[in-house]
Amino acid sequence: MWETTKSWTRVVRGLFYPAECAVCAAALDPAATASALCEACGAELRPLRRPFCGRCNLPFEGDITADFRCAHCAELAFHFERAVCGCRLSGVARECIHAFKYRRALWLGAELVALLSAAARERVRWAEVDVVVPVPLFGARQREREFNQADWLARRLVRALGGRVCAGNLIRLRDTAQQALLSPSERRENVRDAFAVRRPAVFTGRRVAVVDDVFTTGATTDECARVLRTAGARSVLVLTVARG
Ligand SMILES: [Zn+2]
Ligand SMILES: [Zn+2]
Repeated sequence: MWETTKSWTRVVRGLFYPAECAVCAAALDPAATASALCEACGAELRPLRRPFCGRCNLPFEGDITADFRCAHCAELAFHFERAVCGCRLSGVARECIHAFKYRRALWLGAELVALLSAAARERVRWAEVDVVVPVPLFGARQREREFNQADWLARRLVRALGGRVCAGNLIRLRDTAQQALLSPSERRENVRDAFAVRRPAVFTGRRVAVVDDVFTTGATTDECARVLRTAGARSVLVLTVARG
């Protein structure tokens, strides 16, 4: 009888808390942790540490302590000031972001927001950010996926740090091929003129932080930054959970 009650308790708890690690399926004890990850996977989701490029956060091996730019950034003229990324897009981070984005595993969202807000706390003067703008999805894509992961992250980030989200004023004009399948130059071409601002006055003179889940070549966020600067934004900072 006791065993039955215990297993029913487990079933009921399992409705609210995942009973196994979202990445490796190891059993979790919901009484001991509120995390959706086991200890080993949680430990792999660690913050991005220096040395990394001060502009695009590309990580480097070694012990460079001075602020530096990578060769890629020396060549490219990004429209944003710098990117601030929470962690490396390693195995566990990749799995979490993928499940969060495509399978709507919102219980993993808390882990991702924690990385994002820790990076922002540590490396951004938050009082100098006027408005937080999520990278928009194309309307039909968002309806199909039922949510925009960047919007979800931006709202939780603002809940943690304060500030204001402005969604719906930067819009995506057309659907674009998935960036992950393209080369760096194809990525730039793919997002060229894909975004627009409805009412530029909203961004005029503002310091904007653009939020997305992953920064890889920066093509998408840079195109957003270009459009925002054209609309009159004073500066654009990019914030993402992971650096690909
Ligand atoms: Zn695990
Ligand atoms: Zn760089």
